Parts: sequence; structure tokens; C-alpha cells
Amino acid sequence: MMERTIRREETIAAIATPPGEGGIGIVRVSGRDAVAILKSIFRPRSEGVDLDRVTHRLVYGHVYDGAGSPVDEVLVGIMRAPHSYTREDVVEINCHGGFWALRLTLEAVLAGGARLAEPGEFTERAFLNGRLDLAQAEAVADIIRARSAQAHRLAVSQLGGRLSARVGHLADRVLSLLAAVEAELDFPMEDVGETGGETLVREVRQILAALEELLRGFAAGRVYREGVSTVLAGKPNVGKSSLLNALTGRDRAIVTGVPGTTRDVIEESVVVGGVQLRLADTAGLHAGGDALEVLGMEKTRRALVDAGLVVLVGDAAAGVTAEDRQLAQDLAGRPVILAVNKTDLRPAGREFRELAASLPGCRMMEVSALTGAGLPELEQAMVDTVLGNSRGETPLVAAARHGLALERARDALREVLDRAGAGWPLDILASDLRQAWEALGEITGSAAGSEVIDRIFRDFCLGK
Ligand code: GDP
Repeated sequence: MMERTIRREETIAAIATPPGEGGIGIVRVSGRDAVAILKSIFRPRSEGVDLDRVTHRLVYGHVYDGAGSPVDEVLVGIMRAPHSYTREDVVEINCHGGFWALRLTLEAVLAGGARLAEPGEFTERAFLNGRLDLAQAEAVADIIRARSAQAHRLAVSQLGGRLSARVGHLADRVLSLLAAVEAELDFPMEDVGETGGETLVREVRQILAALEELLRGFAAGRVYREGVSTVLAGKPNVGKSSLLNALTGRDRAIVTGVPGTTRDVIEESVVVGGVQLRLADTAGLHAGGDALEVLGMEKTRRALVDAGLVVLVGDAAAGVTAEDRQLAQDLAGRPVILAVNKTDLRPAGREFRELAASLPGCRMMEVSALTGAGLPELEQAMVDTVLGNSRGETPLVAAARHGLALERARDALREVLDRAGAGWPLDILASDLRQAWEALGEITGSAAGSEVIDRIFRDFCLGK
């Protein structure tokens, strides 16, 4: 924390728009020297503009480099502290959106005394200066990364502070309880024991119920925020590749190529009902095979373990084989749908229904990758399966970090109930309550350590 505070004295700058050609590109500057630096590189067109006084308006003029040569014709936005994104003086130089215009403007700003910002540093300052809490700052990254309208809406609501308000309120209630218990420890009163205990238990139950409600929404929120990795599994030739193409090709407009963890991996994905389903075809899973096939199968098995949803593809014309049964057995306990393909040739036989019935929660869908029959129903079944019981819940919580913190708070409060019931001493209850309060504080940042904060902002893009 110390290091950060010192570094906050510096004025930072970065190109805030994505690389490439565009109508406009923005160099953003934040810090107490932002306006002074601007004055050293920028000349407004109109004589009457006093850059030391203007705020929240655009000023037209030119940026010059150190040699006095014009770099670009620009519009400069000046937002004086504290009414700015970072709560510091912020200058945004709207250049022409080309590589050199931005690069040379940034260089001029850096030569004027700014330091290149680190990823997320503008938002980090907004957090450190108290304009956003941690959950709101994280929402900024989520808005930028949202893969579906639903994910976007969730992030906007989080930025607006809905999650923070709910969690903050619960944290306050836990803190009041903690204060009461600690007061009781310091100044024990004779008759408080019994009634005091009842009040404590009642209040903890209520807070627990609220936490559990948030956690129910979390399952759905997570699905909306992160999407679901979906694997099409099945023996060779059942039509997995055809189905993959049919699902992603049905409506080109909603297909996005999402770069995976490595640069050259592109996942096909389709957004259905606000959920991004990232689809992967798998090498045929079947017994035997040469070394290469075995390698492919190994990868497939790993993909199956990681998948949020498995679509087991069967072949209506071929019927259920021993391989299908074996595969189904391997999938037991995973969220799985049986898609019986090639129903244009033959309807799915009774043995498919029995296969689906042998897997808990598994629905059977009849489809034809060839004609497209049954595909909308399959997509809907996929979304229903991944949302499961949380369908219909209004999610407020979507990030894994928040979900884990809520779970820790919930566990600590359950411990309070158990221990209060078993007559444990008050100081132990106080320690449980403190844990719950701290877990909630990690979400909004009031109790988040600097490593947590560091990790969060490191994931941001440059200039944000
Ligand atoms: P994979 O090995 O499971 O990926 O299967 P493919 O997608 O390569 O399909 C195997 C064969 O089945 C190909 O000849 C496809 O044209 C055919 N096929 C796939 N889906 C259908 C379907 O719905 N109906 C019919 N009649 N043929 C299909």
C-alpha cells in the first residue's frame, strides 16, 4: 500500500483507445501536473481560453512536439479534480485515430513530465481516491469484456453500486453484532446472556438468508459473466462437427471469434438467451486407436472434465452402441444433454430415451445437423441446463472472487449459529463474526489486502 501512495504523486499517461486505425484516438493524462503538462505541449486555437480555469469542456487546438513542430490537430477535454474519473486533474487529448498521431502525442506528454501508466492504473486511482469501491472498479473491466448483453447489464448494475450497497449493508449488520458481542465481553451484564443470545441468533439467521439469496444468483451471474465451455462429445461420425457448424453458423451475426488463452486458439461461440456458449468439438472418444488418437482422446477427456456442459451426440440411424453407453457412464454426474442427431434419417429410438434416463438431469433432444431441425430447442435446453436451479434468479454477483468471499462469510455465520447453539464462549463467536465481516469487506475493498488489489488491477487493459 505504501509504495502505491508514493507513486500516486506522479502524473500518469496512456493511450486509452485500442491500437489500430480509427476516427479518434485518446491520450489520457491524470495527476496534479496534468494541466501543466498540457500547457507545455498544446496551444488552443482561441486566444481567450485559460487552460488553468476551464473544466468539463472541450478545447480545440494543436499539440506540438519538443521542437515546436505540430503533431496533430486535437480536441482536449479537461476535467479538474475532484470531478473526474480518477478524482485527480484529468486531461483527455482527442487525436486523430492513427498510430503516429497517438504515439507522438503520448511521447510529447511523457517528455512533458508524465509517466506511462500501468494497466488499470486510472481505475486504480479512482478506487484509491474513493470514487469507486473495489466491486465497482472490477465492474469497469467487466463492462469492457462483456460477451453478451446480459453480462453487460450485470456489470453496469455493479458499477452503479447495487452489489456494493447490498454487501455493504450486510457488512454493517455483522459489524453491529460484533460490536454488541464485544461490548458484552467488556461489560458483561447479568441478564443479557439469554435474551442477547436469542437476538444474536435471529439476526445472524436473517443475514445468512440474505447471503444465501445472493449466492443463488451467483450461479446464474457467473454463467452470464463468464460464459460456459461446452463440449460436443460422441463417437466418430455421429455428426459432432456438423452440429458444431450448424450451431455456430445458424446465425452468423451472433457468432463471435473469441481468442482463447493462446493466441492461435479461436473458440467458436454462440450467445443464446444472454449466455455465451463456447463450443468445442472433440476428437472422437472411443476405445483403442493409434498413438495420435490416444493423444486426442486424452485431450478430450481433459476437456470433458473442465466443461461446464457436455452435449453427448448420438446417431439416430446407428442406434445406441456399447461405445455410447460407455461414454454416458463416463459422463455421469456432469451436466449433460443427449443430442440425438440425424433424425432426418430416423427418429430417436426408445434406447436413446433409456440412455438419457440413466443420467441424472439429462435431457434428450432430437436434432438434425443437416436440416437444422431441433437446433433452437437444443440451444434452449443447453441454456436451461447451465442455469439450472438458478434460472429466474436476479443475479447481482458474477465474479468468482465475490462468490468465494460470500461463501466464506456464509460459512463463518453458520459457525456462529452452530457455536451459539452449543454454548461456546462469546469471544469465539466474536472471532467468527469478525471473519464474516472481513470476508464481506473484501468485496467492496474495505478489507482487501494489497495483493488482492494488485491482482485485480493488473488484469485491466492499458489506459483504463
Ligand atoms: P463427427 O465425426 O462426429 O464430427 O461427424 P461429422 O460431422 O463429420 O459427420 C459424419 C457424417 O455424418 C458426415 O457425412 C455428415 O454429412 C453426416 N451427418 C452429420 N449430421 C447429419 C444429419 O443430421 N443428418 C444426416 N443425414 N447426416 C448427417
